[in-house]
Amino acid sequence: MLQLTNIEKVYQTKTIETVALNQVNLTINRGEFVSIMGPSGCGKSTLLSLMGLLDEPSSGTIEVDGRAVTSFSDKELANLRNLKIGFVFQSYHLINDLSVVDNVEVPLLYRKGMSGKERRQRALTALDKVGLSARTAHFPGQLSGGQRQRVAIARALAGGPEIILADEPTGNLDSVMGEEIMELLMDLNRRDGVTVVMVTHDEQQALKTERVIRFFDGSQVS
Ligand code: ADP
Ligand code: ADP
Repeated sequence: MLQLTNIEKVYQTKTIETVALNQVNLTINRGEFVSIMGPSGCGKSTLLSLMGLLDEPSSGTIEVDGRAVTSFSDKELANLRNLKIGFVFQSYHLINDLSVVDNVEVPLLYRKGMSGKERRQRALTALDKVGLSARTAHFPGQLSGGQRQRVAIARALAGGPEIILADEPTGNLDSVMGEEIMELLMDLNRRDGVTVVMVTHDEQQALKTERVIRFFDGSQVS
């Protein structure tokens, strides 16, 4: 579903040039659960933001379902992101003064023609899926880290994504809560067929996934 060919990403500031990714070739197949490992600064987040169509490579091509991303208009790209991709971050990125259910509805606000009623229904269904039906009226500050991450996963799920891109989703959690989140992602992959690409520092977690891709200094090493 996602194909990256000869990808290079260079960050250019006034004084320094950083090669974040160097000649990366990578295919993500539909239904896979892939983990990405490597030391800090090796390009993992950059890779995820390219896969999420949040940023463009300096050179190389990204294809979605066989179609080059450069052939999409900005509007098509925004639609693709909104309809097909769910993002999960290490630090949750929830809005603290919105309730749990309102947070989950946020990405649906960009769906043209979706009624408030349908938004709410979808958000509640997603929260049910992550086991948070009893916390829909709470605020993020009233939840544990693991619960906050489950809200973030529900937010990613609400739009019915084909792929979830998770950047160290368990990085701020203790091992028990981390394990819970990992189980949840594996469940979504197995039961609902959602493709998952996860950056992790946890070798044990990575070994549970179908494929481990290792990076070092901007290049894939295995
Ligand atoms: P990782 O996620 O593996 O820690 P990143 O993808 O965040 O690595 O970063 C890869 C390299 O690119 C690092 O050297 C980092 O400093 C650099 N980098 C990342 N984002 C930017 C940016 N917006 N501007 C300049 N350099 C960046
Ligand atoms: P951190 O490791 O600092 O907690 P995250 O894992 O939350 O960072 O985020 C990973 C990367 O994604 C960061 O480089 C950040 O700039 C980027 N990012 C964070 N939030 C968003 C967002 N809402 N949309 C796009 N990119 C984001």
